[in-house]
Amino acid sequence: MRGASSPAEPLLAVNAIEVVYSRQAMVLHALSLTVPRRGVAALLGANGAGKTTTLKAIAGLLRSERGEVTKGTILYDGERIDRLDASQMAARGISLVMEGRHAFGGLSVEDNLRVGAFTRRDGAAAVAQTLEMVFSYFPRLKERRKSHAGLLSGGEQQMCVIGRALMARPRMILLDEPSMGLAPQLVEEIFGIIARLNRDEGVTFLLAEQNAAVALRFATHGCLVENGRVMRSGPAAELASDPEIKASYLGFADEGMASFTDRKRWLT
Ligand code: ATP
Repeated sequence: MRGASSPAEPLLAVNAIEVVYSRQAMVLHALSLTVPRRGVAALLGANGAGKTTTLKAIAGLLRSERGEVTKGTILYDGERIDRLDASQMAARGISLVMEGRHAFGGLSVEDNLRVGAFTRRDGAAAVAQTLEMVFSYFPRLKERRKSHAGLLSGGEQQMCVIGRALMARPRMILLDEPSMGLAPQLVEEIFGIIARLNRDEGVTFLLAEQNAAVALRFATHGCLVENGRVMRSGPAAELASDPEIKASYLGFADEGMASFTDRKRWLT
């Protein structure tokens, strides 16, 4: 049953969830976060903080890893979704782009993108229109549409998997570590495109990112996670200017390269 939703309600509300793997390892502890409608929220934290687990819990992908939401609720557009599976989530317009850029190397760029549209039932013309929309945001993919995706650079592969997610016409994209392994200029380019997709296409984003400096510049909201617990959350600008966060998390900010990995290294 879908609950009543109002424009003032967040699109996504994660309420005090607990996640346990293999019935014994608890990795999220009463974790709560909200993503406003048409917002860009950044889930920030070091390696192993629980960002990917949070995204998988939302996308209904924990079961395949013997993970389970054992407490709390997840509401999407007013509907409780924490008992749904990945295909039911996809049907509601949620796409997850996993870390590691899993483009299908043996397929062309265009075929990779078309795979993203395979559940659509609105016809070839509508799919072709979305393909052109994706190419307008990622002109490099258009140039390389006939190339094997396995031959793309890391940045182009990241574009390809974001483009593939867009082909399903999602309302919300969960994006795991979009900056991972990319040169700063490409990170800027990809975050810039995310911001335009949000503004012009109305796509809501939840990004898991270790690169706090960049993520807080592009996001509207931020949520800082450590050891499966939310330490801080609020408007991105507020978090970015908070003296404690600046010192602890952005203290190594140098040309946008501050990273939670650095913090972890210095603290351990
Ligand atoms: P990273 O950026 O390294 O992926 P993360 O913040 O996304 O970090 P998670 O991948 O969610 O963190 O991991 C959170 C914790 O859960 C870690 O301690 C990790 O070892 C553990 N974990 C992740 N997946 C599993 C699993 N399938 N079974 C058991 N423990 C897991």
